[in-house]
Amino acid sequence: MDKKQKQVLEYGKTYPKLWISEKLNKAIFRPQRVELTISTRCNLRCKMCIPLESREKVRTGENIDVPSIKRIIDEMHEWGIAEMNIMGFGETLLRDDFFDIVSYASNKNISCTTVTNGTLIDEEMSKKILKSGLRRLAISLDGATPKTHDTIRGVEGAFDRTTQGIKTLNRLRKEMDIDLYIGLITVINNYNFRELPDIVALTKALEVEAIMFQPVHIEELVFESDTKYHVVHNINYKKSNLWIAEENLDKLDQVIDELIKCRARDETISTQIPMLEMIKEYFRNPLDLKFNCIAGYNSMGIGPQGDVYPCWLVESIGNIRGKTLKEIWFSDEFARARLMMKNCPRKCLMACHYLPKMKDLVSLLGNKIKYKTL
Ligand code: SF4
Ligand code: SF4
Repeated sequence: MDKKQKQVLEYGKTYPKLWISEKLNKAIFRPQRVELTISTRCNLRCKMCIPLESREKVRTGENIDVPSIKRIIDEMHEWGIAEMNIMGFGETLLRDDFFDIVSYASNKNISCTTVTNGTLIDEEMSKKILKSGLRRLAISLDGATPKTHDTIRGVEGAFDRTTQGIKTLNRLRKEMDIDLYIGLITVINNYNFRELPDIVALTKALEVEAIMFQPVHIEELVFESDTKYHVVHNINYKKSNLWIAEENLDKLDQVIDELIKCRARDETISTQIPMLEMIKEYFRNPLDLKFNCIAGYNSMGIGPQGDVYPCWLVESIGNIRGKTLKEIWFSDEFARARLMMKNCPRKCLMACHYLPKMKDLVSLLGNKIKYKTL
């Protein structure tokens, strides 16, 4: 069975479980994955990141330590959760013990993914990544040119370091014959939307597996105490320089249609066609989208201080200290959060929380044929 067939089979197994849970508003299965935020430090100053002053405040809190992380991994292993996304309110590769965490999880057959800004990937870091057992690496690339990428990422030279890092990693991946999936992620915003097709071309030139597109979120952190906080959508999103202004939305539509045609031709773009279509609508009316969200059924988020989040845009419903993952997952607090999320007024279009409706699944194939002939 090839990789594609395995993916389809896996989807066929998980889709009914998620569909049933979502219909019943009840968690009846374990989460597919744990999303673990391990770091709050970063070497970049991206425009779309949570505001700097909030990040500085977050950084004063102690990050989750390795014994606590190992306990989470042990529990995941016992409970049969086979995927872990290692993330950050910062750069994951800045944490010295990052590779200990990945190796510990990999030795327990837990497949690890991480996201990085890619600026720290040199020859030595590439070898560490490739030897660690990491299965998937997502690297942020927000422009097809140094000017655009560096403007968004807030540090001159970031584009060159990231693209050079991708090339080094890719070369060593081939030489060492290691099965690591390398994908790119672009956050669509006012600074880069015109060059999205060029970013697809760059993805091909860099010879990585795929590129995923995600519309920008204009976010803020709300603090409940010095260490307890949650992310909220900034309702003044239209005033942000990152937001695509109304007079540019026709141009955005043209660009997205071009991406959709590319998506129908080959697999370089991993974002599904219905999601690409929704991006057009998102910039017109982000608060009223038809987005079938399964956050709270497919994943459990753990913040840098051990607080548990059903999705990153709702309040924490507890802490891993003194409680098992299973207790938290089936708790009344989690159940209440799921009900609240059912009517989420803020459709974030996070691809990892999107469950296509049955009819969309059928139309996915139809779309592919339709756009191929355009
Ligand atoms: S690389 Fe990520 S964590 Fe760092 S500033 Fe940019 S968006 Fe924030
Ligand atoms: S759509 Fe709402 S509930 Fe779902 S992940 Fe986004 S913010 Fe959370």
